[in-house]
Amino acid sequence: MELGIAIGIDLGTSNSAAAVYRKGKVESIPIDGRKILPSVISYKEDGQILVGSAAKARLFIDPLNSIASSKRYIGDPKKTYQIHNRTLTPIDAASEILNKIKIEASKYLGEEVKEAVITVPAYFTSEQREATRKAGEQAGLKVLRLLPEPTAAAIAYGLDKERNQTIMVYDLGGGTFDVSILKVEGNSFKVVAVDGDSMLGGDDFDDRIVQHLIDKVKIGGQIKNKAQASLDLQRLKEAAEEAKKELSESDITDILIPDIMGVHIDEELTIESLNQMSQPLLNKTIDKINEVVEEAGLTKRDISRVILVGGSTRMRAVQEIVTQQIKKPFIADNVDEIVAHGAAIMAANLCAPDLDTAPVPIEVENAVPHSLGVGLYFNNVYKVKHLIHRNTPVPAIGATLCYTRFPYQKEVELPAYRTESDVPDSKDKLGELILRVTPQKSPVDMVAIFELDENGILILSSAELSPSNPLIGYYDETGEVDEILLQRMIENRQITLERITIDTNK
Ligand code: AMP
Repeated sequence: MELGIAIGIDLGTSNSAAAVYRKGKVESIPIDGRKILPSVISYKEDGQILVGSAAKARLFIDPLNSIASSKRYIGDPKKTYQIHNRTLTPIDAASEILNKIKIEASKYLGEEVKEAVITVPAYFTSEQREATRKAGEQAGLKVLRLLPEPTAAAIAYGLDKERNQTIMVYDLGGGTFDVSILKVEGNSFKVVAVDGDSMLGGDDFDDRIVQHLIDKVKIGGQIKNKAQASLDLQRLKEAAEEAKKELSESDITDILIPDIMGVHIDEELTIESLNQMSQPLLNKTIDKINEVVEEAGLTKRDISRVILVGGSTRMRAVQEIVTQQIKKPFIADNVDEIVAHGAAIMAANLCAPDLDTAPVPIEVENAVPHSLGVGLYFNNVYKVKHLIHRNTPVPAIGATLCYTRFPYQKEVELPAYRTESDVPDSKDKLGELILRVTPQKSPVDMVAIFELDENGILILSSAELSPSNPLIGYYDETGEVDEILLQRMIENRQITLERITIDTNK
């Protein structure tokens, strides 16, 4: 069998990175000579497609034909981009980035790269995962596995470390914040809780600095036309980001922007004032940390290690607040590359698990990223009853008893929702099962069961409970069904079930 080389790809919102595991170690794959590739695509009029820094430079001179942050929309069927009279999707955008990585990696490695492990946020829905997989395939890559980003970070960090740890991954990138808790036992990595804020990242720190500059020099009134204003704002943002990065190294920096909105800016910015501006944003991350620790059923003392990931964790204030609130974090020299490194280790593992060239075998157990429930009436109020809760390990099973509402009812609709709320919303509806029941005067007892497998396939099944279909002994008076007994009953075919399969990947 011919063994190709498989790489790891961190497909990020602002930047992407790739790595390979070979000769017993992980190395970053340079793309255009750099270790990270801006996740930006720009389509030129002559048909040329630019990806990375060259595209980022065009983002502001040709914004209508350039795409940034497309990862925010991946898996959303409604989102499209109109570029030079063509309609493109976030999958098309992601596939251009992956294609660029594939080409550059093949060049670097001297052979065609055909396979990859691509990382995705732990909270990604099945649609988002499936869209990412499609983007990979569209780029000509066989996607060996979609690996949660925090798991990848923990693999990169943890393989050669002590066994049995509880790791927190604090990932603050350009546009998103994610915090996850993983249990690592031997070579098994299991995500036990994830949370985050998809609207919090390095850009928000830049915006605080921009606002500070606007307030300070009172330049708001000088705006002439919209196009100029947008270019000026962009220059302000770039200068703000530069200043922020500078303050990761030094205590004071100068922001110099000649001739902008009718003035010259020459402002000093100190680390103290940046820290002050950043405080509300940092506090938000700490609130999330506390929530996720609680969700995992742990206390902060149980966390054996904190790993920082994402470009914004280079900010000193981030490192300080994590140290204060939890413990001194592990900071890799390569916060931008660590996720790709973990993916590369996984890729080597999946590609050639038996060869000595592969690292130790890794087992990954995932958790359900979003709760799943069934729509039911409770005292005439329609609600979602959660049957599979967020953060339970997959495969997962959940069940409830339910009843008909009206005398002589012939059928019952049992819709499946993916939501954290108990208020049903049609946008969260995945599908529904219609169960025919025996019409009778008194309420008919039924059971509704959700089974979710590792591939995001949800089986929704239901059965009427009659003397030939008894569930006696499997539930208590509150209607809670004993899951283990129930599962055994299903396996032993003791109850006849109507079922539908919802491919949550579609
Ligand atoms: P990522 O999405 O992980 O690539 O992170 C990108 C974010 O990291 C951007 O908001 C950058 O401004 C920020 N960043 C990169 N380098 C630094 C640095 N040295 N200090 C502070 N922030 C940085």
